[in-house]
Order: sequence, then C-alpha cells, then structure tokens
Amino acid sequence: MKTLSTLIVMLTISVVLFGCAPNVKERQLQKFITAHVEEIKPLEKEANLASWQAANSGKAEDYDRVSELILKIRQVYSNPGEFAFIKDIKGSGQIKDAVLARQLDVLYNAYLRNQIEPELLKKIVDLGTEIEKKFSTFRARLKGKKVTDNEIKNILKIETASAKRKQAWLASKQVGAVVADDLVRLVKLRNQAARKLGFDNFHTLSLTTAEQDVEELDNIFGKLYELTSEPFAELKADLDRILATKYDVAVEELMPWHYHDPFFQETPMVYQLDLDTYYEDNDVKELAARFYAGIGLPVESVFANSDLYEREGKNPHAFCTDIDREGDVRILCNLKNNEAWMETLLHELGHAVYDKYHDLEVPYLLRTPAHIFTTEAIAMFFGRLSRNPAWMQEMLQLTDQQRAEIEKVSDKYAQLKQIIFARWAMVMYDFEKHLYANPEQDLNYLWWDMVEKYQLLNGPPGRDEPDWAAKIHFTIAPCYYHNYVLGELLASQLHHYLVCHILKLESDKNVSYIDQKKVGDFLTQKVLEVGAVYHWNEMIERATGEPLTPKYFVQQFVQ
Ligand SMILES: [Zn+2]
Repeated sequence: MKTLSTLIVMLTISVVLFGCAPNVKERQLQKFITAHVEEIKPLEKEANLASWQAANSGKAEDYDRVSELILKIRQVYSNPGEFAFIKDIKGSGQIKDAVLARQLDVLYNAYLRNQIEPELLKKIVDLGTEIEKKFSTFRARLKGKKVTDNEIKNILKIETASAKRKQAWLASKQVGAVVADDLVRLVKLRNQAARKLGFDNFHTLSLTTAEQDVEELDNIFGKLYELTSEPFAELKADLDRILATKYDVAVEELMPWHYHDPFFQETPMVYQLDLDTYYEDNDVKELAARFYAGIGLPVESVFANSDLYEREGKNPHAFCTDIDREGDVRILCNLKNNEAWMETLLHELGHAVYDKYHDLEVPYLLRTPAHIFTTEAIAMFFGRLSRNPAWMQEMLQLTDQQRAEIEKVSDKYAQLKQIIFARWAMVMYDFEKHLYANPEQDLNYLWWDMVEKYQLLNGPPGRDEPDWAAKIHFTIAPCYYHNYVLGELLASQLHHYLVCHILKLESDKNVSYIDQKKVGDFLTQKVLEVGAVYHWNEMIERATGEPLTPKYFVQQFVQ
C-alpha cells in the first residue's frame, strides 16, 4: 500500500527523471563518441585480424602489417586536440548519465596513455613488435638441434639426470640473451613517454590508466606475501625432499632446473600422481566443448574460427582474441591431450565466453571485460577444473577408486599450484616495478635476488645472464602480470558466491559445475553481459555483494 505522500514523492521523481534530457556537454560527448567509434571500430577489427594472421604464419610481412595497424590506432588516441576536448568535458562535471560517464573514463584513459609524440610512439611500437617477432620465431638449440617449448618442458618433466635437465633449462633461457638489450631499450622508451605525461615511470602510468593504484596493489601483494610465507616454506620443504631424492642430489644442491617448469611457476608433478594419464586417451577439445555447452555457454562458434594445434612457424603459446566485439571470438592453442593443455584450453575458452556473451546493446566502447583481470578471473575459474576430482570423474568417466586416488593428492596440488603461482607472480610484480623505476641497475642480479626471496630457489652460482628477459610478458604485456593474481582472488570470490548463494551448498567438496545452467546464467547476467558498464570493483560488488577481497582465496588455498 502506498500513502499519498509517497505517491507525490514518486511523481516528483518521475518529473525530475523525465526532465533529465541530455545537457550540452552530454550531447557533445555523445556526438564525439559516435564519430570516434566509426573511426576506431574498423581499424581495431583489421588489426585483430592481422595479428591473428601473423601469430599463425610467423611471417615477417604479417608482423609488419600488425605494427602498422597498431600504430594507426595509437595515432587516433594520441590526437592532442581530441584529448583536450575529453579533458575539458571530464573537468566540467556535467556528464550525469552513468553509461556516458563510463565511456568518458574509458576514453580519457586510452587517450592519456597515448599522448606521446608520433616519433617516439613509432619507435615504441616498432621495437615491441620486433621483440615479439623474435620470441615467436626463435627456436632454442639443445646439443645443436632445434627444440620447441613443449620439448623443453617435457625434458624438465621426465628427465632424471641432472646434467640433462640443466642443459634443457639453459636452452629455455637462450631467448633471454637474444632479446634483453632490445627489451631494456624498450623499457627506457616507455619511461621516456610516461615522464612526459607527468608520471614517475611507465609502471605508474600503466596502473593509473588501468584504474589501479600502486599503493593498493603493494598492499594486496604484501598481505599475500605474509599469509603465504609459512605455508609456502613448508610445502616447498616437502617438495625439495622429494625432488632431491628423485634426482639423487642433496637438498642444498637443488637448482632451478630440478623443478618441472623453466620458471618454477607451475607445480612439479611429484606426489605419485600424474594427472596426464587420465587425459592422454581423451580429446581435450571435445571435453571442453561438452562442458561449456552443459553450463549454457556453448563454444562451437569459437572453435569454428580458432587454430588449435602445433605447426611450424606458429606462435607456440596460447591466447584468445575478440576480433570485432560482435561475436567473432577466436583462440590459438597448441593442444596436446594432457592436463596442462586441458587447463589452458578451459582457460582460453573462459576468456572467449566473456567476449562472446557480451550484450550487443552495450555501447561498443564498453563491450569489453570490466578489466583485464576480471577476464583472467573467469578464465582461471574454468581453468581450475582440469584438476577438480568431481569434474574429472564425471568428464573422464573415472571409477570411484580412481577418483579417490586423485583426491588423495588433488587438494595438495591445488594448494601447491596456487601458492607456487602467487609466489612466482610476486617476483614478476616486484621485478617489473623495479625494472621501470631503474632500468640501469644490475637486472640479472635483481632477478635472482627476487627469485631467492619469493620462490626460495637457489640461483645458479656465478650466473650472470638476462634470464628475466626470457619471460615474454615483459615485452608483450608490460605491467600486466599482477592481474593474474587479482584474477585468482576474484575467481575464488566468484566460486565462493556460486557455491554458497547460487547452488546453495554447505561446502564445495563435490562441486564440478557440470551441467549447472544456473552457473552460466549467473555469470552471463552479472559479469559477461554487463561488460565494462561499471568500474571493475562496482561490477564485483554488484555480482557478489562485496568488493574484491583476498579472503576467499586464502580460505580456499592457504588456510
Ligand atoms: Zn588468460
């Protein structure tokens, strides 16, 4: 029942709302946006297609084309007159419409980070593409023979002779020496551009224009360092004892090549369980397709445009790309039927469904994930399933006994995986911050110093090589890596919310999400469809009832 006064209040509100026609600044902004999108949309599509082509062919001319198109896009965003207009509109405080205001924020940040004079901008783009090309086409040599990344990783997984492991590990670092000098030059160029915009360095500029705050990040990473230090030291001591026995060396003699990944960012498979055996007779592509269809987010149309298997000259990594923000979403993989590629495929498809299931009614500029790390969160949320015993049992039709075998160690693996990755990401975050703060320092030393601090690894005695430069992310995704950690935090927060509030379960012990349309529906409505209509933390709060918090990650993996 409504009282008269409520009715009067409601009447007044509706009059105010109807009276709320766009003001002059809003009309100016809308006009600008329409023209801007008309210009940028075809360019972005062309660049995405060219980049796709280059990653598949590895050809120099294809990479040149990408470089050209990226430059064209950045030239649009480097227009000083347009930036002045946007700055003026933003300063006016007249943009009341929330969706317009969000588009204004997105534009402001995009223009701000590109206010670089054309000559310097061209140098930055060209050098970045040049280094990326080296990464994409470089093949390490082992005893004079070319080896792929997959081959090196395989040796580090199965080889028992320390000397041979060491050779493979050294081969994985060869690319570092090939790109290091160029990379330092690139860092300095990026810094030069950032200083001209009034920032300390490129790292600060990147975070600010990505709507993130250095202090806030330092705080989150500091907390994680504290909360994980003891459990990590314990887990690693266990691991070291096993590895030392396996490779017949003393614990103190363990070197980075005794771990199963060139950067010790992944979990060594040592607890008498090799999850690969469960996947080797399955088709990871078919499994992924079936799972995503079951939660109401089918991926057939993504597969139709994707490139999934290894080929000479092709980019050896994996990624997802949204070609046009209108449904042409593709992934590139180098699939094998093993657990790592199952995880990667589920991960890349997580990005893909985020892009695929945006609401086409949302304006073009906001038809993207809310933030880089929110798309990582969705990707990680799904990637985690490749080791989930309930998921594995149902998808791979395992017996109860097989599931029990997996469960004996799967929690430990999940915990190890998360803690090992979090500690590794601390190296990346802290190193990169210092790299941009002072690229002149002894970076080879700094790298091993941080690896020892965070990952508790022994640096190889006397090693003075740019091993850090072998990590492709410094080149192609600068000041980005911390987002993987924020992604893990959000993945845990979403998992907790889905288990407790959507599936209404007491615990997550048997949760596989298989055939749970409610999960797909929730994610579609609260995360995928809204795109970047809200600031990332507002989207998270609207979806889960609270802003981003590390507490569910710690609850799930550390405690
Ligand atoms: Zn990802």
